Amino acid sequence: MSYQLCRDIYIYQSSVWQTNSAVIINEAANVVIDPCYFPVEIQVMADFVNRRRSFNKYIIFTHSDFDHIVGYQYFKGAKLISQEEMAFCDREAQVAQLKEIDQTYYIKRKVPFVFPNIDVTFGQDYRIPLKSDELAMFHAPGHTGDSAFIISTAKKVMFAGDYLSDLEFPFVYFNTGAYRKSLDLAEKLVRDFAIKYLVPGHGDPAVGAGEITARIKADQEYLDALREKAQDLVVQGLQEREIIEVLKGIEYKNEGISGAMVRMHEENVKAVLKELQTF
Ligand SMILES: [Zn+2]
Repeated sequence: MSYQLCRDIYIYQSSVWQTNSAVIINEAANVVIDPCYFPVEIQVMADFVNRRRSFNKYIIFTHSDFDHIVGYQYFKGAKLISQEEMAFCDREAQVAQLKEIDQTYYIKRKVPFVFPNIDVTFGQDYRIPLKSDELAMFHAPGHTGDSAFIISTAKKVMFAGDYLSDLEFPFVYFNTGAYRKSLDLAEKLVRDFAIKYLVPGHGDPAVGAGEITARIKADQEYLDALREKAQDLVVQGLQEREIIEVLKGIEYKNEGISGAMVRMHEENVKAVLKELQTF
């Protein structure tokens, strides 16, 4: 499925995990963010992008998870850009996960996936001037160590990678403290750049300050509750198993966590406990 979000910006949403790729086309460049997921889906996007002749071509990755990087080989001559910590991600694990899912669902990739070699990396932040726009990127570790927010400053659109989805609560693969700080950064960027559209890696965009702020608040509250309660229980001397049991009761958006999300929530509890270095 694809649609135009605003002038120059198109969103391609995969039928798996509602994973979003974005295409920004203007007179100065064409830019693809997180090209994914099934070969036919990537091909449709590549046909659209490759039809436009452009001197500057960029692919920007919000982070190194396989579902966000799998399609880059379809875009010829594009410069690959990511946050510099991507150099330290577990490439083999990402390739293995992709392979396992491809095998399970008989997905055939004519172009065998190879982990990307990045052309341009950045540390804290980075900017790409485009004729009538400017893209600004900011390191936002927490989900992964190499996560980044990408902003179209003229269009007031923020691409949040695997943050602030309407489909999932925070998945912390890297660090809960860093994740919490990146939510504060998101809040500041949304304010400073007067962001109108927030496009998550999965699910629907949040439109307007109200909805965007509500998503940020919900994730901040969840992580604060998780971190504070875990700390209390550690001080009380509870063991890991008991703490996980008690923290099953934490709510997200005023509802209990259920179904497939329970396991992810448990992983988050374990991440907090590891950071508290008690176990
Ligand atoms: Zn993802």
